[in-house]
Amino acid sequence: MKTIVLIENDALTRALLSECLAGHGWRVLEADNGEAGLDLVERHKPAAVLCDIRTPKRNGFKICRAIREQPPLLGTRVVLTSVSRFGNDRDTAFAAGANDYLVKPIPPTDLLEALASCADDDEADGAPTAGADGGPTRIRFWGVRGSIPTPGKETSGIGGNTSCVEVRVGEQIIVLDAGSGIRRLGQALMHEFRDRLLQVTMLVTHTHWDHIQGFPFFIPAYSPKVSVRILGYEGAVHGLRSALFEQMQSAFFPVALHQMASHVTFEELDDMQFELGAVKVKAIFANHPGICLGYRLSTPGGDLVYLPDHEAYERYEQERQKAAGENSPQGLEYARQQDNNVIEFLRGADVVIADSQYDAVEYPTRLGWGHTCADDTVENALRAGVKQLYLFHHDPDHQDEKIQAMVERARARVAEHGSPMQVFAAREDAEVVLTKA
Ligand SMILES: [Zn+2]
Ligand SMILES: [Zn+2]
Repeated sequence: MKTIVLIENDALTRALLSECLAGHGWRVLEADNGEAGLDLVERHKPAAVLCDIRTPKRNGFKICRAIREQPPLLGTRVVLTSVSRFGNDRDTAFAAGANDYLVKPIPPTDLLEALASCADDDEADGAPTAGADGGPTRIRFWGVRGSIPTPGKETSGIGGNTSCVEVRVGEQIIVLDAGSGIRRLGQALMHEFRDRLLQVTMLVTHTHWDHIQGFPFFIPAYSPKVSVRILGYEGAVHGLRSALFEQMQSAFFPVALHQMASHVTFEELDDMQFELGAVKVKAIFANHPGICLGYRLSTPGGDLVYLPDHEAYERYEQERQKAAGENSPQGLEYARQQDNNVIEFLRGADVVIADSQYDAVEYPTRLGWGHTCADDTVENALRAGVKQLYLFHHDPDHQDEKIQAMVERARARVAEHGSPMQVFAAREDAEVVLTKA
């Protein structure tokens, strides 16, 4: 990704330019005066700076000269802008070291052309795409429950918040789903970053309510110093943006999405493989009503799979045939192949966080609800050679004791198999650190 610092005093122009740049893959850091802008430039060493010549607290010519005096900013492309068509201003801009000079209103094609030669961010520039240093990957559970939050003393050991997992790779912060657990994550981030700029990438598996309901309570999204990049796939009925937007309409919530002061961007993904800085991401369609994905994050510290909502195929087909009085070996074989695809997706992962909502007794009464019997989650993880399995998306009716019993059952099966795989219940506030040996 490429970073650009946009220094522009006029709020409307700034918003328009920012939207255009963000829409073309730029990470945009904004300032409304020269002093704040230069501070951003020095801290982030961006690929480019787009700056109006008439900005308060240091004009564009001065900013350009200051940039040109700093060797670490040699590669930064500076484009000065103005409403002025005076030849004198253009000459002064180039004399100050600008690479280009654009007169407003700036046609988007001219803007993109002026920036076309910019390279991606230098990893050494301290931008939050770092993490390629082989440092540890930290995974923290903020919400582990499925379907609906379950506060209460019977669930306080495991936690009652719905799905939200934080992954830190270097300075990069990736948030998996925005269930109610994201509220406390937001508080922790604001405490940690205070006045510093914060950039969060949110990967959403699907828009069922237990995976997005915490977003309106994600406090960083109300801060102008924060940018939130939300990635996910097109839903069965609505797009990602409209699903998040609709739950903030006035009938449901007092603050609208557009009132969030942070820079929130939405990207609907097409490719099943993509990169987030030093993290390579693969996606797989889960067996879940509507469109739901699972993600495999290959990080310098190790590989993590997040598959929160998924119903294993073979047991579903077995139970379905039993209930319908059918006998279709082909149907079962096809289901087995589908499970094998998921097993390949999990293959050799260091950590798997996977749907384990029901036990074997409950499962037949919840057939086709889109969730897995924990026995199958364990079996498939064993076949995939997973190192650590975290049972996840706990049923709202499962109290701490019940979940612990499910973990014990899973561990007994692993011991019987003779596998070194470790099994845990995903628990709020638990942290897993991955370091490549
Ligand atoms: Zn769910
Ligand atoms: Zn769901």
